[in-house]
Amino acid sequence: MSLKDIRLKRGKEESLDRFHPWVFSGALAEPLPSGLEEGETVTVHTHDGRLVGTGHFQIGSIAVRILEFGAGEIAPDFYLERLKDALALRKALGLAREDNNAYRLVHGEGDFLPGLVIDIYGPTAVVQAHSPGMHFARHDVARAITELPDLGVRNVYYKSETTLPYKAHLDPQNTYLVGDFETSVATENSLQFNIDWLRGQKTGFFLDQRDNRELLRRYSHGRRVLNMFCYTGGFSVYALKGEAASVHSVDSSEKAITLTDANVKLNFPDTDRHRSYAEDAFKFLDNMEKGAYDLIILDPPAFAKHRSALRNALRGYQKLNVKAFEKIAPGGIVFTFSCSQAVSREQFRLAVFSAAAQSRRRIRILHQLTQPADHPVNIYHPEGEYLKGLVLYVE
Ligand code: SAH
Repeated sequence: MSLKDIRLKRGKEESLDRFHPWVFSGALAEPLPSGLEEGETVTVHTHDGRLVGTGHFQIGSIAVRILEFGAGEIAPDFYLERLKDALALRKALGLAREDNNAYRLVHGEGDFLPGLVIDIYGPTAVVQAHSPGMHFARHDVARAITELPDLGVRNVYYKSETTLPYKAHLDPQNTYLVGDFETSVATENSLQFNIDWLRGQKTGFFLDQRDNRELLRRYSHGRRVLNMFCYTGGFSVYALKGEAASVHSVDSSEKAITLTDANVKLNFPDTDRHRSYAEDAFKFLDNMEKGAYDLIILDPPAFAKHRSALRNALRGYQKLNVKAFEKIAPGGIVFTFSCSQAVSREQFRLAVFSAAAQSRRRIRILHQLTQPADHPVNIYHPEGEYLKGLVLYVE
């Protein structure tokens, strides 16, 4: 069956010729092919008929996500081939090991699969579609996952109820496409985590902080650690592993605190070094004693999901960081993060800089952090970079 064809307005192929995978709706020439449906695979041509590529059509500001440049179709084994490339990279990174079976296999545009996320937790893959096209491709994707030689995944859970555009009326069901529940425990750097993809945020775990958690472990020895916005307690478990004197975990969600407590117990069944608090982070920081902690982690949810919320978000980061800088013990270390895609690295740094100046303490930057290599950034798609972090030394 031949694909419907979309034409671009004159000159609108420029960013596509530089391999940026998005076609914005303003670039499309009218009229669109009749009967074109959301999620359909389409070909894209310039106004004078040169083939640009093939992608998934969608209603919204991003109209087409290009899957293949310079080709007029999607090969039958397209998903299997892309997944093989993705797995080869994770193997090259040394992430698929006996003592580490939790990693991101596919990071959307960063793995040349726009709109698709796949996280691996031992024998289970959790798949999220962010575009209608990937929703329709979900069974092909699931089959490709199980066909991947030596991936060892037996179960594929599809979780797109909250990631697909609401207006597309796709009514996706969160469900196992292959296999069934097997185990919820996955291993990261020899540490064990209970991962709740059924009820948890995103795919159940924030894999993107793996390298930063590992760095934190190295700074934890003998320190009194405060892990704000702890969610599943990733940073807390690494701090305990690093022989922190004590670790306090804070999250406003009771469910998150239950997950954190369970993960601490899984790794350190007898520890008395950990305590958790279901409280608002801002209130907790206001009420805590000055000098009570030597290491504070600030990893809040995305304060700005969209550009429009940017100013408030920057103010939020500043407010949060000031509180930590004012209260941390001398010689203390702050790990501070922003996962808002709409906030640039410079803007985040400026917000933290303003907070530092306001606290009037001597502060130095020890590390500048980002997302790990299993969340790669396609060089032609800089929007794929979202996680920013600073490690600061506070005198
Ligand atoms: N640091 C975590 C991820 C944080 S996700 C990790 O490494 O896995 C953000 C968390 O912030 C969520 O668990 C959410 O419940 C919590 N949260 C959101 N608003 C909060 C607030 N005002 N005070 C405390 N926790 C909050």
